[in-house]
Amino acid sequence: MSRLIIPAGLALLALLSFGQSVVAGVAGDCDFVFPWITHNDRFSADLVFNNLGAEATSVQLIAVRADGNSEQAEIFIESLEQQVYAADALFPSLGSGSGYSVYATTARTSDHIEAAFVVTGRDSCSQSSPAQANVVKPSAAANLLLFKYMPQLNGGTAAPVIVNTGDQTATVTVHGYQYNGKVGTNNILIGANQPYAATIQSLFPGTREDLYLVVQSDQPVVGLSFAFNELGEPAMADAVPLTVLPDGGNDDGDNNGLTGWDAILAKFTDNVQAFVDGNTVVIRTDGVPNHGSPYFGAGDSRYLQPHSGMHVNPNRIGEQNLEFEVPTNPAVAATGSETRLGPIGVALNGVPFFNQYAGRTAAGWEALDNEILSFDIYNGHPAGNDMYHYHFEPVFLTEGDKAALIGVMMDGFPVYGPQDPDGSLPNNLDECNGHTHATAEFPEGIYHYHATTEFPYLNGCFRGESGTVSQ
Ligand SMILES: [Zn+2]
Ligand SMILES: [Zn+2]
Repeated sequence: MSRLIIPAGLALLALLSFGQSVVAGVAGDCDFVFPWITHNDRFSADLVFNNLGAEATSVQLIAVRADGNSEQAEIFIESLEQQVYAADALFPSLGSGSGYSVYATTARTSDHIEAAFVVTGRDSCSQSSPAQANVVKPSAAANLLLFKYMPQLNGGTAAPVIVNTGDQTATVTVHGYQYNGKVGTNNILIGANQPYAATIQSLFPGTREDLYLVVQSDQPVVGLSFAFNELGEPAMADAVPLTVLPDGGNDDGDNNGLTGWDAILAKFTDNVQAFVDGNTVVIRTDGVPNHGSPYFGAGDSRYLQPHSGMHVNPNRIGEQNLEFEVPTNPAVAATGSETRLGPIGVALNGVPFFNQYAGRTAAGWEALDNEILSFDIYNGHPAGNDMYHYHFEPVFLTEGDKAALIGVMMDGFPVYGPQDPDGSLPNNLDECNGHTHATAEFPEGIYHYHATTEFPYLNGCFRGESGTVSQ
């Protein structure tokens, strides 16, 4: 196994403490990972090391938080000795706050160090409710993990921890399941060597049941599940690798009992707040994509190198304050009405859809020809107000299923990927790029648009009466 040699010294320490991305390979090349160590008002943690070897040795430790901040430490341990360290004693400069992952590397390949950790709930009745878990070897990292039990009943809550042990930003899809099947998916990005943690409520806001999760990542990941009772007392268990997705599927064609707007709302990512209010659906979004892009700018953990031939425009991705009000029960009009410049709908990841034109002058609509060169690999780019948007199929959302729901237009009709549910290309689309049949979300049938590689790409016009958007 290749091994990371960490020179002592302030230069590296400074780099690690302030850099956004830690030395590449630090997680993948270490001997073991403490997935989640916490030191704050609510939780404390102890790191435990046992030296089963015949020689005294040192262990290099690097702690990395989700924001990329990190700190290193070194411990010395005699043969057959056990040592226990409070997290804040090992990593004083990280201080309190959210948890961090700790990567440990022993001095020699012959060393035999075992380790575990204890997380203690401090604001429960006892103020010292402990839970213990084992460290994980990076060789146990996988692209598919199962978190077996995420309880939410009886006032408790649960949280998965996902650690990206790869050296590239990980694109991760979290699939949630409950007693009667799949509840939804959520896409997240995790920087190289960085951990991610979120409560089930923030990942799947509508759910109240006990869940289990399957996490799919394009980088190797390890995982740990936390379960807390109503007093905030923790318990922990490792996530286990899976080799295939449940039921052999790539994504849900099935919405487990949810239909209509309930099914759509369950599919929005957590940067979107959406709810039905009478005959209107209110959809609020920051408009920031859940995938990488050159338009995040170098230095951002979500930054991707431009693809070959891409003309990166001078704009960057900025947070928006978009609020759509969309009719819940749109009627199909006899003819389509023209869309407009700016947002005309919203994708399931909160990114607005724009129409098939670049602009409009006295001479009429201008084609997208030049703008297309500035699209990133996910078919998006930001406008002058830093509003990232798609004019074309948002391919990040159709990677696993070309017939998947991708969003809704402002007239309340849904938009799907380029295929119909049977895998065929729709061949009877009207001038708005729509037609009517049953879909996974609307088993009774609904008028809907399709993304197409040919003009008009998303919808060519509104076949229903458009709602409104404020920005
Ligand atoms: Zn554009
Ligand atoms: Zn269709």
